[in-house]
Amino acid sequence: MAIVHSIAADDGRRRLTLDSPVDRRRIDEIDVATAAEVDEAVARARAAQANWAARDVAERAEILRRAVDVLVARRDEIMDTVQAETGKPRVEAMAVEIVPSCDFLSYWTGRARRDLRPERRKLHGYLRPLKKLYINYQPLGVVGVITPWNGPFVLSLNPVVQALLAGNTVLLKPSEVTPRSGEWVVRILREAGVPDDVVQVLHGDGETGAALVAADIDKVCFTGSVGTGRKIAAACAERLRPYTLELGGKDAMIVCADADLERAAAGAVYLSMFNTGQVCMSVERIYVVDSVADEFIRLVSQRAAEITYGPGGDTDMGPLFWDRQVDVVTRHVNDAKDKGADVVVGGAPAAGNGLYFQPTVVLDATHDMDVMTEETFGPVAAVMRVRDEEEAVRLANDSRYGLSGSVFTKDPAKARRIAARMATGSVVHNDAAVIYGVPEAPFGGRKSSGVGHVNGTDALRGFTHAQPILIDRWQTKAESLWYPYSDKTIRNLEAVVRHGFGNRFLRRFLS
Ligand code: NAD
Repeated sequence: MAIVHSIAADDGRRRLTLDSPVDRRRIDEIDVATAAEVDEAVARARAAQANWAARDVAERAEILRRAVDVLVARRDEIMDTVQAETGKPRVEAMAVEIVPSCDFLSYWTGRARRDLRPERRKLHGYLRPLKKLYINYQPLGVVGVITPWNGPFVLSLNPVVQALLAGNTVLLKPSEVTPRSGEWVVRILREAGVPDDVVQVLHGDGETGAALVAADIDKVCFTGSVGTGRKIAAACAERLRPYTLELGGKDAMIVCADADLERAAAGAVYLSMFNTGQVCMSVERIYVVDSVADEFIRLVSQRAAEITYGPGGDTDMGPLFWDRQVDVVTRHVNDAKDKGADVVVGGAPAAGNGLYFQPTVVLDATHDMDVMTEETFGPVAAVMRVRDEEEAVRLANDSRYGLSGSVFTKDPAKARRIAARMATGSVVHNDAAVIYGVPEAPFGGRKSSGVGHVNGTDALRGFTHAQPILIDRWQTKAESLWYPYSDKTIRNLEAVVRHGFGNRFLRRFLS
């Protein structure tokens, strides 16, 4: 039985009931925002935007900085909500949701002034004596942020905070699987002093998300599945509206012959299974060089078998957060078994009422198995032996996804060489998912894994329009190119081309 149900309420609107993934007890109900309510919220956000944008970026940052104190003070309540909706262990509620959120808030509020205030940019060559260039970072207006359920607080907070700092008003549509965890973002920001209409939450499922995308907004920032990302891109294309898409992944981990095998095995298990394996950029498939494969596999199997899971919040692993994931993970593991893989640890949903899946190790995986090609999003370490690092890179790139990847080796220079050949948005040495928690890293997916960046200066400025302003230095009566054209006009242009660009020495001076 599904844990999210749509029911008709007495007043004719749709309501969603939500059951716990731990024991399927009813934990909540939400009213689904109708298209008309979405439009009303957008209108309020539109009306509030000018005042919010009129505040200096330092003032906006000051307000948002207060949210760190609110977040620190309210962390237990936020973690209670996240745990109620996802069942993830307390450690993960803290490590995945709270710590990076504190860091994102602190980082972006410290960074915003530098990255968003008007800047002067030096012009090159012959333009320098004639003009001055300034860049304004203008807010786009109203931004819609649509988020998934796997990191329901942090994945909502990060884009919302950036969009607000840039002077936009924001409508957040959190996942219907974890609505209250997302709602906390809006609550703490309002408590810190962000006006109500400047940041709002809209509850509901895909219908509400689609209504938000169709509404009169100026950018969509989406994190979620590839399928939904495509629909959003198509809707935005119709209206020529910008969007950022952070989508799924099938991140490869490469274990080189010179890897520290203790670290590689511990990393393989943890990075495949923390957050119950529901992490978009971590480890979804593992390529280990044959010469060290036996020992690596022994260590991985041993560690995976030691993982504790089940209700209580103090085990190593919680349940899958959504019943649909149980079906996906089961299907992938069974498909691997049917095609000849060896499942040496786990391999099935755990007994009981909750959405638990046994920590699983799949050996002898190949690229004709879903577990190596489709996003599994569950606690599965799928291992494939490769001849050498060359083959590992080739197989890592043999994917329609390109979110992130990892290389385990004792040699950082080799890690960089391999990384340069990986067709992924980012690469991490001797670790993986941590890259999302590095706000200065321009994190974003390639291929089907996304469009644009969610971190780095590009991401923050992605919530603005960079408006170049060209200032006239000399204010002469007319430019030499303006009417009327004469022989002198063409002689001047000819001189620039022939004596300037046509001369190697001067060309360097002009560039
Ligand atoms: P999803 O696409 O089903 O839903 C994501 C959000 O979109 C939800 O809020 C949902 O209600 C909304 N939505 C659904 N249909 C919509 C529509 N037609 N128009 C607008 N909004 C719509 O994804 P999910 O199952 O919630 O999340 C899991 C996926 O997210 C995985 O594929 C995972 O890899 C990906 N993910 C990616 C990142 C990243 O940073 N790249 C981070 C977390 C999760």
